[in-house]
Amino acid sequence: CGIIGIIGKAEVAPLLMEGLRRLEYRGYDSAGIATLVDGRIERRRAEGKLQNLYDRVTQNPIEGTTGIGHIRWATHGAPIERNAHPIATDRVAIVHNGIIENFAEIKAEMLAQGREFTSDTDTEAVAVLLTSYLEAGASPTEAVAKTLPRLHGIFAMTILFAGYPELLICARRGAPAAIGYGNGKGEMYMGSDALALAMLTQRITYLEEGDWAVLSPTGAQLFDADNRPVERPIKQTALSG
Ligand code: GLU
Repeated sequence: CGIIGIIGKAEVAPLLMEGLRRLEYRGYDSAGIATLVDGRIERRRAEGKLQNLYDRVTQNPIEGTTGIGHIRWATHGAPIERNAHPIATDRVAIVHNGIIENFAEIKAEMLAQGREFTSDTDTEAVAVLLTSYLEAGASPTEAVAKTLPRLHGIFAMTILFAGYPELLICARRGAPAAIGYGNGKGEMYMGSDALALAMLTQRITYLEEGDWAVLSPTGAQLFDADNRPVERPIKQTALSG
């Protein structure tokens, strides 16, 4: 339902929480954040109001300078903590808006490989498929390039990779996604709308239909639906933090 992603320099959890607060107007049933701590994926998730996630993060703080956050409006799987995003394996954590229509087919293929699932979401099929490519030796960019053409449905998503503290990859098909540029301080952002990013930057690129983007502290490399490198304009938004 709502997504934020940040490659930063400072503790990222408070920024993710503030981004989620700005997306709250969209309505949601659960929320969560993930960061990397010593290269490993750490998550905090809670069903219900964002306050529940705040309480959880206050009781059990989460470190890290790169992270992703989500407020969920469940389509597949009950609105309970186990199904809240970020959906993760030991290799990737994903926040996803939309629906993966062919998730059951991918899930069956992954189960046949002996892979495990821990949620009832459609999103987890994407996480496990990416993991299978990574385990076969693909880089994060290669794994995403192989995964996206296999997905049917609607998505805006951002992916965090274990062992890659300065990388986020995001993609859009049928749901909006924007990337935001830091002010030359080694920061990059992703949001499902520009409002979530208004407190961070006014320099935004809207991904076009089928685009995906590899974000690093120094900028973004964009690809189209055929995995060809593309350039998209950077716009100055009138929104302010
Ligand atoms: N289909 C996903 C799920 O149910 C994402 C829902 C959303 O857009 O928040 O987990």
